[in-house]
Amino acid sequence: MGRKILGYWDCEYCGTKKIRGNIKSCPNCGRPVGDNIKYYIDARNITYVKDEEVPKAEEWRCLYCGSYNSFDVKECRNCGSSRSDENKTYFQVHESHIESENERFEKEVEDYETRYKPYDFKSSVIGAKEKILPNITNFIKGNSKKIIISLIAIITVILLVFLLIPKEQTLVVTGFSWERNVVIDKYQTVFDNDWYLPPTARLRYTREEIRSYNREIIGYEEETYTEREIVGYKEVVTGHRDLGNGYFEEITRSEPVYEYVTKTRTVPKYENVPVYATKYYFDIDKYVYCRTVTTSGFDKSPYWPEQPKEKTNPKIGDERVSSRNEMYKISAYRIEKTDTISEYSLNYDVWNTLKEGDTINCRVYITGYIEII
Ligand SMILES: [Zn+2]
Ligand SMILES: [Zn+2]
Repeated sequence: MGRKILGYWDCEYCGTKKIRGNIKSCPNCGRPVGDNIKYYIDARNITYVKDEEVPKAEEWRCLYCGSYNSFDVKECRNCGSSRSDENKTYFQVHESHIESENERFEKEVEDYETRYKPYDFKSSVIGAKEKILPNITNFIKGNSKKIIISLIAIITVILLVFLLIPKEQTLVVTGFSWERNVVIDKYQTVFDNDWYLPPTARLRYTREEIRSYNREIIGYEEETYTEREIVGYKEVVTGHRDLGNGYFEEITRSEPVYEYVTKTRTVPKYENVPVYATKYYFDIDKYVYCRTVTTSGFDKSPYWPEQPKEKTNPKIGDERVSSRNEMYKISAYRIEKTDTISEYSLNYDVWNTLKEGDTINCRVYITGYIEII
């Protein structure tokens, strides 16, 4: 049962406003509450009353003079005519009177917004709109550094993407160059170590060493943490029900009240425990990097440097080719900028077909590499 509130009515004869619901005759003109009057709440001035002050049921309307009478009297207090089955009750007069809870609540909030300020029907509902805009402004104020850094990052990414896109250009070939190199390994005795002993290795010694770490529980400890919890419930007023006798009853809903509660729990304590294993230190014969041999020229006749042949049973001092690399370039100027000659690298097959003075349309990458279109 919600709390009871005193209602008000307006005199439809002399226009006196806000007559208390427990006064049944207009204090100005003396006319009784009658005909189509409807009780209402003064949202600005809520007066709570005790349950026992409120009559048990709605009032009935006198057929002859139209005034309203308490449910428990048999005769009209205004004209004295007695109550019969034809007398309508307050709710029968106001057929559409019992509105849905939501409809009524929305109407009250609307009333509140247009007419009153201090009564707090449910500030969160009314305040929601006003809260969004200041929140955005505060967010911008509080995070200005982060926002600037993000903007710089975005601009940098856009610039990078722009630079990485190849540019289409027309070039005039003025010269050629090439470079080839061979990386050579030498078969040598190396002092090395590993977690296993290779079959061809000659062991010098072994040692126990940390190979990895295991995360292990070494005990338990108490930890405090906070948790949002329901600590109780509060009644929130969602609307008001007209009792049809000059009084209203609050319609309420129970809402949980949250609070942050500090709690403790037992959590395991971890430590990284080293795992030992045997490490082998040994001599082993194998190919290791020795040198790089390069040939180059400013013509169109590239050739490879001398390359050692790999032997099936290598001996100390034997050599083999580890890798080969080649690069082909042209020097050229952009057709619209004849005084600046730059170098461009390109694929051998294309390079080989070009002649001095050729005009080529190509895509130029940021690295200087070009592709013929
Ligand atoms: Zn009056
Ligand atoms: Zn009467």
